[in-house]
Amino acid sequence: MNNAFDNFCNSLSEYGISITDTMKKQFNRYYELLIEWNDKINLTAITDYEEVLMKHFLDSVSIVKAIDMNSVNSMIDIGTGAGFPGIPIKIVFPHINVTLLDSLNKRINFLNNVIDELELDNIEAIHGRAEDLAKKDYREKYDLCVSRAVANLSTLSELCIPFIRIGGNFISYKSDKASEEIESSNKAIDVLGASISSISNFTIQDNGRSLVVINKSKSTPKKYPRKAGTPAKDPIL
Ligand code: SAM
Repeated sequence: MNNAFDNFCNSLSEYGISITDTMKKQFNRYYELLIEWNDKINLTAITDYEEVLMKHFLDSVSIVKAIDMNSVNSMIDIGTGAGFPGIPIKIVFPHINVTLLDSLNKRINFLNNVIDELELDNIEAIHGRAEDLAKKDYREKYDLCVSRAVANLSTLSELCIPFIRIGGNFISYKSDKASEEIESSNKAIDVLGASISSISNFTIQDNGRSLVVINKSKSTPKKYPRKAGTPAKDPIL
């Protein structure tokens, strides 16, 4: 177990992230809670300690390869599930105000427990659909929106871009096999007031990963996002 954790810490320092004792305790407690709750509610198919460290925790914080996180003050994670990528990012960048959003309430209950146990401040877990929340107080409020494994990039752009302020970024976590999907999302991204500013490709233990950075230059037209379910059923193409 310790060897795996040392490797994880070494990878973090290669990413330029310095990890404190508090952060080490938080990552290990988070792992314990994931495994404990995974028996009761479906949170993750990956349960092996080393795999969780690499495929969930390190993958989440790999965002540093795409953006300077010190310039980010507020972030929302859409379809966060068991807290990825939002919780690992919050652990290593505690200065960021974080909103975690998911449409499954049992996952929000788990996340509230994680927030309490890890003693995280300035973070909230909200139950709801992105399509509904983006019409309310959360609209155009965030420096950064992140999302991993929720939908194709066209659908996801409609769910995520409304949350970011003009000048803010939406970063989508994809595998390295997403080039066609990225290509066919160009129209949606443009209609929503944004454009792709960079794509970072890299590997984590031989898994090809891709971070698509989308920058917003105009306000998103009020008609987006359309009603719940429509962005997935009828993506802007
Ligand atoms: N992001 C996590 C990860 O990478 O492990 C979870 C991915 S899981 C496959 C997708 C999550 O998105 C689920 O927890 C689901 O409830 C949530 N979700 C799907 N559509 C959503 C929507 N429109 N609004 C909010 N959450 C949504």
